[in-house]
Amino acid sequence: MGRKYKEIKNGRGTTLQINQNDYISIGRDGEDVMLRCKDKVLAFQTWEQFVGAADPSKCSYKYDYQKGNVVIGICIVDGDGILQEFKRAYYRQGWIFKNSYAFKNEPQKPCYVPELSNTIYTREDFLSMCNGQADIAEIVFEAVDWQHPETYLDEQYATGEMTICGVCGKIFLGYEAESCPYCGANGT
Ligand SMILES: [Zn+2]
Repeated sequence: MGRKYKEIKNGRGTTLQINQNDYISIGRDGEDVMLRCKDKVLAFQTWEQFVGAADPSKCSYKYDYQKGNVVIGICIVDGDGILQEFKRAYYRQGWIFKNSYAFKNEPQKPCYVPELSNTIYTREDFLSMCNGQADIAEIVFEAVDWQHPETYLDEQYATGEMTICGVCGKIFLGYEAESCPYCGANGT
C-alpha cells in the first residue's frame, strides 16, 4: 500500500462515503457489494458478480495476472482509423495509453500513445522503426512509459545500449557483442 492509501479491515463490512450521496459498501468477506452514485444504487451478491459487471473497455487500468497483459487508458479507433474514444491514464512516468494485449495480438490496433502528443502507434509502427525485428520492438514497447518510441530508440543508440550494424543494418544490444551477432562485422 502506498502512503496515499489507507487500509481498512473488512471484518464486519465497510462503507466508504465518497461524496454526500455516493458510497461503496462491501460486506463481510467481500460479498454484498453496494454502490451508490447520485440517484443510482447498484447491489451485487458477490465480489465476482460486481467485478464481472464492469465493462473492461471503460476501465482506465487493467491487468490480467494469468496472461500478463496490461492495459492503461482507452484508445478505440474505427475501421478507417478514426479515433472514437481516447482516455489517458497514469503509468510509471506519465499519462499515456498502452495496451500490451494489442501489441502482442493485434498488430494494426493502437497499442501506445505517448504523453506529449496524440500520435497513435501500432505493433506495425514499432516493428518498422525497429528494422522489422520483433525482439527489439518488444524491448522498446516494454520500455516506453511517456516518451515517443523514436526518441527512446535514439537514446539507446546515443548511449550505446543498442547499435545498428553498419554492414547488415540489423539492430543489436550494444552490450551483447563487440561485433555484429548477425553478420560478424566489426567496428560498426
Ligand atoms: Zn551486421
